[in-house]
Amino acid sequence: MTNILVVDDEADLEPLLTGWFRRKIQQRTYAFQFARNGYEALDKLRSDATIDILLVDINMPEMDGLALLAELPALNPMLRAVMVSAYSDMTNIRTAMNRGAFDFVCKPIDFGDLELTINKTAQYVNELRESQQRKVIDELKSRFFDNITHEFRTPLTLILSPVERLLAQYTETDDLRRHLLTVERNAQRLLRLINQLLDLAKLEAGYLTLTPAPGDLGQLIGQTLQGFAPAAEARGLSLSYHNELPGTYWFDAERIEQIVYNLVSNALKFTLFGGVTVRVSPLSPTTDDGPTVRLEVADTGIGIIAEKLPYIFNRFYQVGSESGNRRLAGTGQTEPGTGIGLALINELTDLMSGTVAVTSTVRPPGTPTTAPDYGTQFTVDLPLPRAVGNDPLDGQRITSSGSRPIRPPDVPVAHLPGPATRPPDTADDGTGRPLVLVVEDNDDLRAFLHETLADQYRVLTAANGTDAWALIQAELPDVVVSDVMMPVMDGYELTQRLKASPDTNHIAVVLLTAKVTHNNRVEGLTYGADDYLTKPFHADELQLRLRNLVDRQRNLREHYHRELARPDGPAPMDTVADTFLRRVYAIIEAHLDDSSLSVDGLAGALSMSRKTLYRKVQSLTQLSPNELIRQYRLRQGADLLRAGHNVSETAYRVGFETAAYFGKCFKEAYGITPSEMLAQDLPKP
Ligand code: ADP
Repeated sequence: MTNILVVDDEADLEPLLTGWFRRKIQQRTYAFQFARNGYEALDKLRSDATIDILLVDINMPEMDGLALLAELPALNPMLRAVMVSAYSDMTNIRTAMNRGAFDFVCKPIDFGDLELTINKTAQYVNELRESQQRKVIDELKSRFFDNITHEFRTPLTLILSPVERLLAQYTETDDLRRHLLTVERNAQRLLRLINQLLDLAKLEAGYLTLTPAPGDLGQLIGQTLQGFAPAAEARGLSLSYHNELPGTYWFDAERIEQIVYNLVSNALKFTLFGGVTVRVSPLSPTTDDGPTVRLEVADTGIGIIAEKLPYIFNRFYQVGSESGNRRLAGTGQTEPGTGIGLALINELTDLMSGTVAVTSTVRPPGTPTTAPDYGTQFTVDLPLPRAVGNDPLDGQRITSSGSRPIRPPDVPVAHLPGPATRPPDTADDGTGRPLVLVVEDNDDLRAFLHETLADQYRVLTAANGTDAWALIQAELPDVVVSDVMMPVMDGYELTQRLKASPDTNHIAVVLLTAKVTHNNRVEGLTYGADDYLTKPFHADELQLRLRNLVDRQRNLREHYHRELARPDGPAPMDTVADTFLRRVYAIIEAHLDDSSLSVDGLAGALSMSRKTLYRKVQSLTQLSPNELIRQYRLRQGADLLRAGHNVSETAYRVGFETAAYFGKCFKEAYGITPSEMLAQDLPKP
């Protein structure tokens, strides 16, 4: 039913309208309400959100139709207005149309024309409402996909990560290790299946978007194939790869990997003798957006009978299923398959505007195994743009901005940094271990993270963003490792707060996320996250990334410390990029000759607590605020001396009360007295 509000100061319109539309009112197609002026109409609009159409006279006393029109978008954006005015009133009608009125009718009203106009408007409003509803449902669905992915990946992380740790520990081949390998293999398989199912669902709902980036496609495929080498070898099958691509292309690495993975695992699965050949080669496109890359996966396997070929790209279809998996017997495979892989490939190639085709020849019973020309060939043609060599978005730059076209190879365990062997230099608790805050709402995962990190870090934990934020402000950890999806305050918001506050913005943030799409990654990085890890993550990888972040912080700290500890070289201000330190330096500079500038004074000028100032300066420079002030003064003193000022004048100018004390501190800091330095140094130009 379409709800129509008629706004007109003439009372006789009401019976005329209800008379004309009696039928439609009885059929409940239309319902009319009436208002005598603009204010009454506003009241009705405010109390009734179901009004779809406003039929409004332009000329009314008090509030006229144009004024009412201006209020509509804020009141109800779905509503559309049909203006009513005299035929001669074209100026106002034009104005109304320009201000967003949907249509107009002229007085005296031709009711036949009015009915057509209202029908048309009603249809438009209904379509608008439907598309709005669809959007809401779409958003719900999309959130559902994210949530469900999260729900599956968290427990899988909790299976895979501990198993991987145990496997690294128990290297002897025995029952325990065999069982662990079974757990690992099956958890991996489950993860892959879930990902594929969700991808397929997303594809069908139209939510899967591609995130192409330039990269070496041939190399990526090669890497994916490497994973199959052991299995092929174990079954006595050959696996050969021909990469004939000339350079870099734009592609979505994750999706290409999925296609290659599925084709090759099928090919190996259904092949008993011979092997699998993979080829990737350039195509000369016949049209502007024609395919440019061809991927072929050919096997010498059991083949697919011609009648079944048209169906294999259907969801859940399995050739063997009707014949009780007879075809699978003898391939040594225990995994019966799901019929998802090819459907996913079909949808993915479609999404990439490409095609997938198959040809197959079934090997007749009794044919010698060495006979050639039997088996199955899949051909995927994709229109992938070439990435030009010096494209500004090419190669390394993309990599460093966080979207990597090529997944880095797994980090061998042997290369992992060992337990903290460096001298205690990173934190101020005396143990030298950096302080890490783990924020994760899943109790098991939080405990697991705590245990994983406890060897090398002091660890604090919080179960949600709000608790975490309080802890961060109180403890100023070196690094925060946070889940993204959490109740109360999520990881993005936490990151945003942390990075927006001058007290805490030096703290590094690693986000743990089940959301693997490029956009989500970018979202995290936009809020200032320093790194992210996708669940399920490898404990090793987390360790490595934390170590990198902590090392980076330490290097920076050492750099600032070193620069400040030199009596020469560029001015301190010219060596720091950190905005906080720059502010500190500027304040000290402004009080250079003021010997009374204290740590409290500095904290006050920065409007931060003494404790926060201490922690922040310490974590940026390895110095206490007091030491920092003194170092800065001495450094500026060295410049003044070189510029020809004598020691007592210099001492006074950089805020030391006596020349003797200045000389003593100078010697302590640089190992030489001011006059010795002058004797060594040539004066600065
Ligand atoms: P799954 O392999 O999980 O059953 P797919 O969608 O990947 O699902 O494959 C669907 C069916 O197509 C398989 O069950 C199999 O019967 C057939 N098939 C796919 N690839 C090959 C191949 N290389 N050789 C023979 N049969 C194949």
